[in-house]
Amino acid sequence: MAIDLRSDTVTKPSLAMRESMASAEVGDDVYGDDPTVNALEERVAAMFGQEAGLFSPTGSLANQLAIRTLVKPGEELLVETRSHIVRAELGAAATFSGITTRTWPSVDGLLKAEDPLAIAHENAGPYLVSTKAIAVENTHNFGGGTVQPIEEIAKLSTAARARGIAMHLDGARIWNAHVASGVSFAEYGKHFDTISVCLSKGLGAPIGSVMLSTKERVGEARIWRKRYGAGMRQVGIIAAAAHYALDNNIARLAEDHARAKKIAVALAAVDASLVDPAKVMTNIVGLDLSKVGITAADLTARCKEAGLWISALGPHYARLVTHLDFDDAQCSQAIEILEKILKSALMAK
Ligand SMILES: *Cc1c(COP(=O)(O)O)cnc(C)c1O
Repeated sequence: MAIDLRSDTVTKPSLAMRESMASAEVGDDVYGDDPTVNALEERVAAMFGQEAGLFSPTGSLANQLAIRTLVKPGEELLVETRSHIVRAELGAAATFSGITTRTWPSVDGLLKAEDPLAIAHENAGPYLVSTKAIAVENTHNFGGGTVQPIEEIAKLSTAARARGIAMHLDGARIWNAHVASGVSFAEYGKHFDTISVCLSKGLGAPIGSVMLSTKERVGEARIWRKRYGAGMRQVGIIAAAAHYALDNNIARLAEDHARAKKIAVALAAVDASLVDPAKVMTNIVGLDLSKVGITAADLTARCKEAGLWISALGPHYARLVTHLDFDDAQCSQAIEILEKILKSALMAK
């Protein structure tokens, strides 16, 4: 069977997770009657010190519901250049909410509070677009699983809020950030007005995200979720998988991080330009192929022939993501496959 490192979304629900789904108590969630969903929303909100939560089928929708409660049509959201909100949500902020975005660049997605603060224009008057919110992605996906320093988050949040600018956390992989940094969910949570978290990435649930905020904003988001057609019925069957994931799959993310580090160390030994293992903080390994004589598309194709699936995310950038369904034996095999292909590319150069 192929080893699949394209993303941490490829995991399949375990038997125990499926059993928890099969026995879940359910009700009609559009009527607010699903006890498993209600408990999940309350549980995740409490973890992050937020008032309320809203279950959502995807992280993209949770992000979009959150930011539309912070930013009105014709107003502005600031985001990092390679963030999921601007790169991978198909223009949803503009399409659905009339929100304009402006971006700041960074190295490896790493947050420096001064970068967004330098381009923010709160109350910009009648001629310029007013900045209403800033989004932070933690961990940063296309930055290579980068963990955002809590000091920079705190500095940004304090300065932004003092200027009347709200803070959104795209926490699709906040679980990985927590395990890598030891910073509590509540500590992360207090710096943000809205938060989205994914249960379907490293935590291994098949579907599901939660949007968090005040009762008022979550109430508003609940209306928009229904308006977008994502009001779900006996969805406790899925929320049960999320509960199972929260009960069992957070601490074990450290194993995914260790395997990602192991891959990075092995490949850096093949050629130091490929990856800096010190920058591999979580479960994502980004490979810079610009100096090794193989394109990302070629590497991906040759890996696939050898039984290893990875992603080509740019002409010279490939990504590997470790996860729940990837063990030590597969890790050794993946390293062997990558070493062989990369060494032969270097020899042919
Ligand atoms: C995966 C991801 C999301 C949400 O993705 P969906 O596929 O819509 O669930 C949001 N933000 C980041 C950073 C992600 O990696």
